[in-house]
Amino acid sequence: MADSRTKKKCSFCGRPENEVGFLITGMNGYICDSCATQAYEITQEALGEGKKSGEATKLNLKELPKPVEIKKFIDQYVIGQDDAKRFLSVSVYNHYKRLLQKDNSDDVEIEKSNIIMVGSTGTGKTLLARTIAKLLHVPFTIVDATVLTEAGYVGEDIESILTRLLQVADYNVPEAEQGIVFIDEIDKIARKGDNPSITRDVSGEGVQQGLLKLLEGSVVNVPPQGGRKHPDQKMIPVNTKNILFICGGAFDGIEKKIAQRLNTHVVGYTASQKTATVDKNNMMQYIAPQDLKSFGLIPEIIGRLPVLTYLNPLDREALRAILTEPKNSIIKQYIKLFEMDNIKLTFQDSVFEYIVDKAVEYKLGARGLRSIVETIMMDVMFEIPSESKKEYEVTLDYAKHQLEKANMARLQTA
Ligand code: ADP
Repeated sequence: MADSRTKKKCSFCGRPENEVGFLITGMNGYICDSCATQAYEITQEALGEGKKSGEATKLNLKELPKPVEIKKFIDQYVIGQDDAKRFLSVSVYNHYKRLLQKDNSDDVEIEKSNIIMVGSTGTGKTLLARTIAKLLHVPFTIVDATVLTEAGYVGEDIESILTRLLQVADYNVPEAEQGIVFIDEIDKIARKGDNPSITRDVSGEGVQQGLLKLLEGSVVNVPPQGGRKHPDQKMIPVNTKNILFICGGAFDGIEKKIAQRLNTHVVGYTASQKTATVDKNNMMQYIAPQDLKSFGLIPEIIGRLPVLTYLNPLDREALRAILTEPKNSIIKQYIKLFEMDNIKLTFQDSVFEYIVDKAVEYKLGARGLRSIVETIMMDVMFEIPSESKKEYEVTLDYAKHQLEKANMARLQTA
């Protein structure tokens, strides 16, 4: 009888090993080949439910998050940047509305409002985009403008932007045609210098011209696998009319252009009054379309990005909040890591102040916070899982010691 108990059998259908093709071994049981096939089919069915290929998901305005809800959601992950959050929330909501208007057509056509976000590196542009992606009901992708070059040069064709969207939409074209694309580092395709004819500006104005086609809304032939267009490759036509484009860039040095414009505009009696109200520490808030033009974006592109918003530089207070407040803040992530080893990790409050001090001192910004915490925690993370401790407190002395021991110069280049 021992034989029937020890004999391997499928935990799903109960058939013994000799009655099935083969058994796959799990932690506490087995699954036979035919049950595995059935499970796969059920999964496929469940995933594809409600959406046939070749059809876009039907949206329902009542079920979609309203701008206030979208912002509340982003608030959980992104500190500050209220203006950018509001602009984004409204734009995404309007994007849904525009998609819905297709069905009940009347004379008023809502045009799309592509967005451009300007803010120094590490202030949360990509984070905003990634966070929004979590609650979107349409396909979303982030692409990097730095890899784009004019056709015929080393780099990627503009159309490859849409390849990514197609991939996210599982090559369902109507679905991709209502998606959202975040183009990061848009400033990198600004025209270099005032005279573009001196040298070929393959990654600048030419790319902008190409991008214009996409932003305007047209049918674009997209290489399904990305990369360069290839004569033998079958192209997929994608209409960009309803695709929302959100662009982001640091526009390094644009503050000078803003300052210049503000100075040249305020002359005469009101000048002193106006300049007095200019907050020199945050020039970005005064950004206007003409500054983007001075920076090297062509007017046609600027015209196609009617919503212009900015991100504030992160001050001490913001950095301190970023460390502990967001839903998946750096500190919360470490606490979780330790929890998995059943260790309760705590920090002296002064440690947070110290970390922020160092990030400010070495001009590391928000990105530097992680490398500082990583440096402080490395030794503890190495040793403590092998010890029998149930709690661990990171003290200010320990944090100082760890950071001084490490080479801060290394962090600066991180
Ligand atoms: P950008 O795209 O503006 O260069 P990122 O969005 O990539 O910057 O930010 C880099 C990192 O810094 C993020 O992953 C996040 O951890 C942190 N960070 C930056 N800004 C914020 C913010 N406003 N709120 C929370 N975290 C932020």
